[in-house]
Amino acid sequence: MDDRLSAPAPAAPADIPSLDRLLHAPPFSALIGCYGRSRVGTLLRRQLAALRERALSGTLSRAELTEPALATQLAAALAEDGRSRLRPVFNLTGTVLHTNLGRALLPDEAVQAVARALTAPVSLEFDLVSGRRGERDAVVEELLCELTGAEAATVVNNNAAAVLLALSALAARREVIVSRGELIEIGGSFRLPDIMRQAGTRLIEVGTTNRTHPADYEQAVGERTALLMKVHTSNYLISGFTHAVDIPELQRIAQRAGVPLFADLGSGSLVELGDWQLPREPTVHATLSAGADLVSFSGDKLLGGPQAGVLVGRTELIAALRKHPLKRALRVGKLTLAALEAVLQLYRAPEHLAQRLPTLRLLTRAAATMHAQAVRLRPPLQQALGPGYAVTEAALSSQVGSGAQPVEQLASYGLAIRRLTGPGRTPSLARLEQRLRALPRPVLGRLAEDTLWLDLRCLEEADESAFLAQWAQLR
Ligand SMILES: *Cc1c(COP(=O)(O)O)cnc(C)c1O
Repeated sequence: MDDRLSAPAPAAPADIPSLDRLLHAPPFSALIGCYGRSRVGTLLRRQLAALRERALSGTLSRAELTEPALATQLAAALAEDGRSRLRPVFNLTGTVLHTNLGRALLPDEAVQAVARALTAPVSLEFDLVSGRRGERDAVVEELLCELTGAEAATVVNNNAAAVLLALSALAARREVIVSRGELIEIGGSFRLPDIMRQAGTRLIEVGTTNRTHPADYEQAVGERTALLMKVHTSNYLISGFTHAVDIPELQRIAQRAGVPLFADLGSGSLVELGDWQLPREPTVHATLSAGADLVSFSGDKLLGGPQAGVLVGRTELIAALRKHPLKRALRVGKLTLAALEAVLQLYRAPEHLAQRLPTLRLLTRAAATMHAQAVRLRPPLQQALGPGYAVTEAALSSQVGSGAQPVEQLASYGLAIRRLTGPGRTPSLARLEQRLRALPRPVLGRLAEDTLWLDLRCLEEADESAFLAQWAQLR
């Protein structure tokens, strides 16, 4: 039989319906009702132009030109075009507080609080007792003082903003003394010397990269000294022949000089992480009681809350920060305060924290739990990937991330995917990693040593079925 007789003739450009006709046809009116005339018009024009190209190259069939077929294709394009750019992903990188993935996950209590603040007027800067205008910090100040032992507290947009505000308000046109070993750069271009310059502060570096002694600070103190500053070296560790001056000693020097001591804790924890057998991190409470006058830390690192920069310390210092014009520019919104308040409330019952606070829950997951999960997930994953890859269970180590605990690793479990070399043409691991990123909820692992590692620490049991369900869509 002659193929040319049975195969339908390809469609010609003239067979393509006009934009105007389609826009008046019922399935397209329905799309206009949903997406609006202008977007439907724009995407339909694009779709018709692509069809014209294919008609010219003889690869377009008439079956694709029926109204229902065209409308289905357009509906898919409209849905894709309207999809959020802020997509949920599976974080299997092994880094719990991943800055590029939005750091801490918030508890349900915070979600509810944010939803309430989004949909109803709230007493943000309104004192319900006096009926007068209030201070927005009041929403969380009492809680922060209760949890840290501070006299006063204020909140800004992130910890970089907190440091900028503290330096601008307390040390503009004057000098701040910092150890050379603490002149940090944090990912995302937070460099302490740059922030100092921006604040109009003169940086006085003392000591050497590995060793700084009390005398180094004492010799640097002068008439123009505004602050002594200690920075938690959160994303690296200087080890070996080292010496740093601790907070109590710095406090003695600051007191003699008559200037405050400011500590940027970076992550800063409100609880003793050692209580959960986690690597220790200085707590805000301990830093204040050791003698710091002002302490700053992030809301979305170990605290496990929303992005924010928290400043706690002596009343007159916090008052000076509040009066500075930058405070207004760096202030947080009601959503941040609602979420932060809900998270801080959880800290009042520390014995439930490892269950209720997602960050702590993830950090304290038992290796045995993740091992059982790896055993469960390996077969379906192997099946989805096919015989070109080998999936095995693997002991891994995950990290806290966001600068906290740069060296300490947490024993974890996961899956290792390797490409089998054989006669088949199995795509590379780099290609596989791309395909995982193209899943409806992208799966992000870590590619190293010719292996794609999927650390299961951040895949909680509740998300497992959603994780498994989408592997059928691997393209
Ligand atoms: C993370 C960090 C910062 C920056 O905090 P953000 O909340 O990301 O702005 C500043 N200082 C230290 C020591 C940090 O670890």
